[in-house]
Amino acid sequence: AFDVLVIGGGPAGAAAAIYAARKGIRTGVAAERFGGQVLDTMAIENFISVSHTEGPKLATALEQHVKEYEVDVMNLQRADKLIPAEGPGGLIEVQLANGASLKSKTVILSTGARWRQMGVPGEDEYRNKGVAYCPHCDGPLFKGKRVAVIGGGNSGVEAAIDLAGIVAEVTLIEFDSQLRADEVLQRKLRSLPNVRVITSGLTTEVHGDGTKVTGLSYKNRNTSEVHRIDLEGIFVQIGLVPNTEWLKGAVALSPRGEIEVDARGQTSVPGVFAAGDATTVPYKQIVIAMGEGSKAALSAFDYLIRMAPV
Ligand code: FAD
Repeated sequence: AFDVLVIGGGPAGAAAAIYAARKGIRTGVAAERFGGQVLDTMAIENFISVSHTEGPKLATALEQHVKEYEVDVMNLQRADKLIPAEGPGGLIEVQLANGASLKSKTVILSTGARWRQMGVPGEDEYRNKGVAYCPHCDGPLFKGKRVAVIGGGNSGVEAAIDLAGIVAEVTLIEFDSQLRADEVLQRKLRSLPNVRVITSGLTTEVHGDGTKVTGLSYKNRNTSEVHRIDLEGIFVQIGLVPNTEWLKGAVALSPRGEIEVDARGQTSVPGVFAAGDATTVPYKQIVIAMGEGSKAALSAFDYLIRMAPV
């Protein structure tokens, strides 16, 4: 059995594994895709002390760093079920999709999240070539350009306000007949001169020239007319979905499906900790996920040294 079993190999899981292994305890990582969302990212310019890097490069560095320690890395393994320990000091079980079962004294859940996609032609083709999901990450890449934000909930309206300070003009497109963001955000949005809001708009296509985005089409849901907007960037803000479906009923989740953690990364189950985008910790970013992963590993170590000797 492991002392610490990390589920997920993104920035949070990698940090947790390194911090745990450095305590000299038996550490394992099971990940569906080592590297996580970082693999889908091109330019990273807010990884503090590294002014510019690229996702695949950072993902390789994460794996190399983990492998410098005695960590049992199980890549391409999806966890299916978590079974809490039967009693204090017992082993926690994690069942994998391949039928295997792993046991550990503590578990760190770091399965991350995925951005909900529009599912329209051009979106996949132009991802990272104008189609973006993270305004904190990619906003500055569109300085002085024209962008659209898809989604008029809190995250969409926050993104539009944020981007309006950087880009030339923002068009916010909401599917519903009205914005769903908090009134105070809507008021702020309406006060900005370079933001235009389109409601009852269904994005139907992302246009590009083969290498980058050049525009989008949307349908007015009241008239069924299709309109085209010329622009350079599209920020999709229709939801971040935590990869926690498999944990329902096992650990406490928020109404949005995020794993509820306290300030030490402890979940509702003794010995089970969580970190990164899968949790209730706000602001989903690489440096934050790494910090939280490190913290969860230290908390797991603290928990282990208090366990009754077997
Ligand atoms: P993730 O990176 O999502 O990793 C989750 C891990 O868990 C993966 O290994 C996954 O395969 C695994 N997993 C999921 N489910 C299971 C399961 N059931 N069993 C086993 N393993 C599982 N942040 C920045 O700070 N700067 C940026 O420039 C930036 N740009 C971004 C660009 C894009 C396109 C995207 C999508 C995100 C970007 N982010 C950026 C956000 C950043 O990538 C995330 O905040 C960060 O990766 C979260 O780390 P994490 O370890 O919590 O989760």
